[in-house]
Amino acid sequence: MKQSKLLIQTLRETPRDADVVSQQLMMRAGMIQKVAAGIYSYLPLAFRSIRKFEEIVREELAKDGCQELLMPAVLPAELWQESGRWKFYGDELLRFCDRKAKAELAERRARGEQPDERDFFNFCLGPTHEEVITDIVRRNVRSYKQLPMNLFQIQTKFRDERRPRFGLMRGREFTMKDGYSFHVDDACADREYWAMFNAYKRIFGRLGVKFRPVEADSGAIGGSFTHEFHVLAGSGEDAILSCDGCDYTSNIEKTEAPKLAGANFGDRRGLIKDHFCTPGVVGQVEQAAGMKDGEHDGMPLAQTSKFFLYRATFSDGATKLVGAVLRGDHEVNPVKVKNLVAAAELELLPLDEAEALTGAKTGFMGPVGLAGVRLLVDRSLEGAVNLTCGANRTDYHHFGLDPARDLPGCTFVDLRMAAEGDTCTRCGKGHYQAFRGIEVGQVFKLGIKYSKAMSCTFLDEQGKENPMVMGCYGIGITRTVAAAIEQNYDADGIIWPWPIAPYQVQIVCLDPASPEVAGVANQVEQELEDAGFEVLHDDREGLSPGAKFKDADLLGIPLRLTVGAKGLKDGIIELRDRRTKVVVKFKPEAAVGEVCVARDRLLLELETAGGR
Ligand code: ATP
Ligand code: MG
Repeated sequence: MKQSKLLIQTLRETPRDADVVSQQLMMRAGMIQKVAAGIYSYLPLAFRSIRKFEEIVREELAKDGCQELLMPAVLPAELWQESGRWKFYGDELLRFCDRKAKAELAERRARGEQPDERDFFNFCLGPTHEEVITDIVRRNVRSYKQLPMNLFQIQTKFRDERRPRFGLMRGREFTMKDGYSFHVDDACADREYWAMFNAYKRIFGRLGVKFRPVEADSGAIGGSFTHEFHVLAGSGEDAILSCDGCDYTSNIEKTEAPKLAGANFGDRRGLIKDHFCTPGVVGQVEQAAGMKDGEHDGMPLAQTSKFFLYRATFSDGATKLVGAVLRGDHEVNPVKVKNLVAAAELELLPLDEAEALTGAKTGFMGPVGLAGVRLLVDRSLEGAVNLTCGANRTDYHHFGLDPARDLPGCTFVDLRMAAEGDTCTRCGKGHYQAFRGIEVGQVFKLGIKYSKAMSCTFLDEQGKENPMVMGCYGIGITRTVAAAIEQNYDADGIIWPWPIAPYQVQIVCLDPASPEVAGVANQVEQELEDAGFEVLHDDREGLSPGAKFKDADLLGIPLRLTVGAKGLKDGIIELRDRRTKVVVKFKPEAAVGEVCVARDRLLLELETAGGR
């Protein structure tokens, strides 16, 4: 491919609205172009990388017998109503009316009625396809003999993200591989889960990126029903904790926190109400410092408690108030709270409601004497005595709290955010280390949630009808390509991993106006292409060598071959490794052989790097 003909416009300056490296570099390298917030065009270079990654995914899934199909992007509301998700999916689901519904709406309005437009939305853009695939399978599969089955597509998804950002990493429109499997029983679904888990390890391993499979939150079902695959990168939106002594690695949303032994705060005393007064002081630390009496000149933070009031909403629409009590120096993990009460949604109680319920301003609310609130207490407070807690009276705290005694009906559970340095709950020996991760894929055991709601059943050997057991498996195709850049760049630009580089070799012709130099460059291009290499040939005229090298570094093609009049005078051209910057010189006739050697070295490095 001649660069003079390539649709590409490189930028010297970093675009102002680009927040992360991958976005900055892909925009500067002319790979993506923003069309609207979170919506991008993939220009030719980026599209080549995306397609290459898709092919890797296809190849690995084919090894496990997965079948590819393609479902529509525009989906009817009926299917989503059947699964119940039309109501629960929230604003990320972009809903709209088609022409027929619009006409009906207009007619009702013409009659002077004021219907809610939302009641006429009858389509949405698919953010994920459980409903459609379940509908396909229930219409086409009847017998246990046809199962198991694993179907996938690579398709454009739309999610109306609240904060689209980071370029391809959190777009509104993006490309996803979504796969779904159907089984006669749990055992079979579990086998497929691990088969996909291993396929994902192969897929991300082939990119040579550092990644980790991570135990993740699976909602109220609990258990290890889902793993996320994370590319490790400082810009990652997720916090991951990984034990330095065993394999336990999990999303911090899920990480089990060890029960910590409490310090000895003296013999248990009774609850002394409204004991400490810290007028107008709201922060936990400042309040603890201000808790003074004849005995105390401020309280250790670990002797204070903190309190959160939530409203839990359940799948049947019912709601319940939930209070969470933790040690003053611990963070609450709302995902754990949500799962413990098996809620579909959990929100902090709005301040005005919380104030009305407790009778106190924020900072002084507490768990004692609250009627109608389900109380959860972090297990590190089990056995603790002589704590302080908000008095439900502005400016005051009780002293002497013994949760087991003073909070009748409370449950001691793991509520807190685990932290770096905590002892691992699995091996009991190692300690958690913290990483940032970009979620590039997820495997999930769905069970019979969709098949039951949508009557996707099969006849077993006895002729009895059963719901199919399902799994689903996603990979963010475009996000992965961006994440690979987050791990592979330097001050000059991108350093593409060989398997998804848009081209493998870039020939930089320094003197394209010279027929002799251009002739050699074209000859080498032809020979490399004949040998099966993908070559981008910078044949642009009127650019200084410096400008061409700068562009080449920015684009990040793994191998650069420089052909110029100066070198050719001595009969040589130069091959430079983008990552190591190591240069080798040889005769033009040796180009194919030298490029083969360099490629083999890069692939070997990749193999040892994969899954690091
Ligand atoms: P996140 O927590 O990052 O919002 P998710 O868990 O909601 O992602 P899934 O439903 O698991 O996403 O989708 C499968 C994969 O699709 C994700 O692992 C991720 O790689 C990719 N993905 C999800 N949302 C986006 C997005 N807004 N832009 C790009 N890729 C995305
Ligand atoms: Mg996910």
